[in-house]
Amino acid sequence: MKPINDSLNQLVNKKEFKERLETLKKEVFSDRDVQLFLQEKRHELDEQMVERGLMKMYEFKGQSKRCEQCPSLLSCMNMVKGYQPRLIVDGRNIDIQYERCPRKIKEDERKEQESFIQCLYVPKEILQASMSDIEVEQGRFKAIKLVKDFVREYEPNKKMKALYLHGSFGVGKTYFLGAIANALAEKKVKSTIVYIPEFLRELKGSFQDQTFNEKIEYVKKIPVLMLDDIGAESVTSWMRDDVLGTILQFRMLENLPTFFTSNLNFEQLQHHLTYTQRGEQEELKAARLMERIKALAMPVEMTGENKRSK
Ligand code: ADP
Ligand code: MG
Repeated sequence: MKPINDSLNQLVNKKEFKERLETLKKEVFSDRDVQLFLQEKRHELDEQMVERGLMKMYEFKGQSKRCEQCPSLLSCMNMVKGYQPRLIVDGRNIDIQYERCPRKIKEDERKEQESFIQCLYVPKEILQASMSDIEVEQGRFKAIKLVKDFVREYEPNKKMKALYLHGSFGVGKTYFLGAIANALAEKKVKSTIVYIPEFLRELKGSFQDQTFNEKIEYVKKIPVLMLDDIGAESVTSWMRDDVLGTILQFRMLENLPTFFTSNLNFEQLQHHLTYTQRGEQEELKAARLMERIKALAMPVEMTGENKRSK
């Protein structure tokens, strides 16, 4: 004979179970999104299906939809991060489908866009920049207009002049390059932003190994190149004539657009390029590089306050 206690326990458990089920049902059916689903699908559903689908609806109810309960994608509270549940009717059953949430969609788009942009020795943060952030500011209307024209009209192999953005330290020239790169990435155009002083230092270091040629080849051939801070490097005839000279010559002949930023205007840059570290004065060679820069890019001055001092 079963001990009386066991049967009693079962009875109590059964009662407890029923109570719990009732609470669960109440919770599920008072959920706004569940109600909407049941309302919308009322012609496809019957009582049995709703009863059977209770656990699915419970799973659905506990999760964030439309990202409203998650502080960020990283701390998404859903069962599968970045995916939100949707209730569906599948034959005679209620089921859940998981779809990318708005934040995940945005993040995926951002990643895809970023995959079109390479930054060499330039912080990736500048890719936060977008043309619409810059729009309102004075001192750069001309640059904005020219960039917009450029992005709109850009086509591979078309001969197009890019820009030489010059202006004092901190006016936002590098930031501007980030915005251009993003605008181009939206059109699925690949670009690379290269911080010139560091790039040249690095090249010097890898002169002996094979990565040297790889780096030069890469920069030579990228569809849109952006050389950041030309004029901030220390000049040697090797970097001026053999490295920059070669890269720019190739890009000129192949109609590959090349943007520049500099603290110096054309005249000051020419002067900078004339004097090497060793004290040599090489006007002709400086002039030759300047000709290439002028052929590739149109000078535009950017003015404004120093944004770094804020
Ligand atoms: P530059 O290259 O002309 O010396 P940066 O592009 O580095 O100047 O800009 C200086 C600082 O100001 C950076 O921290 C940058 O992120 C910020 N900045 C520049 N332009 C903008 C802008 N339009 N909106 C917001 N921040 C900006
Ligand atoms: Mg800069």
